[in-house]
Amino acid sequence: MTIAAAAPTKGLVEIHDVHKSYGGLEVLAGIDLTIAPGEVVAILGPSGSGKSTLLRTINHLESVDQGSVTVDGQLIGYELRGDKLYELREKDILQRRTQIGIVFQNFNLFPHLTAIENITEAPLALKRASKADAREQALQLLARVGLSDKADHFPRQLSGGQQQRVAIARALALDPKVLLFDEPTSALDPELVGEVLDVIRTLASTGTTLVIVTHEIGFAREVADRIVFVDGGRILEEGPPSRVLVAPEHPRTREFLAKVL
Ligand code: ADP
Ligand code: MG
Repeated sequence: MTIAAAAPTKGLVEIHDVHKSYGGLEVLAGIDLTIAPGEVVAILGPSGSGKSTLLRTINHLESVDQGSVTVDGQLIGYELRGDKLYELREKDILQRRTQIGIVFQNFNLFPHLTAIENITEAPLALKRASKADAREQALQLLARVGLSDKADHFPRQLSGGQQQRVAIARALALDPKVLLFDEPTSALDPELVGEVLDVIRTLASTGTTLVIVTHEIGFAREVADRIVFVDGGRILEEGPPSRVLVAPEHPRTREFLAKVL
């Protein structure tokens, strides 16, 4: 395995020459992407193009076969000893992963915990806060996502849109440096999409660094500083929404947008 050492950092997230295969299938075929602090990046691409895998390599839910990912100058799954890279122990991976929040398509809340317990779980488990402080912070986060009245509800007592807003509050609880969204509205009934996009829109406008995999092209155009189009495990095209979505250069981007717009 060859993994390039962390270069001097210019971006908050630096993805350098990342390759990943499953069996014989190369899912990421050399991804380079640098994300600046406060930037909002939308990743678009057809189903199976490697978008989720790319997102998951950022917080080391997936290891990489080659290349490196750093967040704020720190390798996420590895450490450099001398000139060799070693995969970190699970405990250290978990520690570094706290810098990166992730929100999944299917919410992935703990079903046996209430909304507020879902949010306080990580800060308490990591001993980041006392019980009283964790609860106070969770109430503030619930207010931010418009769910002050649902603190003691279990996930099954909440709509999909509400569950996803709890998931966003949970992801914010460790004050991550970057927040990743993997198709956050794809599992929602159409009438619930707006309330989740509103929360993400607010995060985008308040300077949170966001990486959003989405099929909501209109939303991407509105909130993203940059559109990254992925196909076949490669970035085929990237640039501001006003360029990539209006005058795409790559035939695959044109084909994709013609299908989804
Ligand atoms: P996307 O999110 O763009 O739809 P994914 O990153 O989920 O794409 O998947 C890219 C390809 O990798 C697909 O062909 C998928 O079947 C395959 N894949 C993803 N995860 C695994 C895995 N854990 N094991 C084997 N194949 C996988
Ligand atoms: Mg996916």
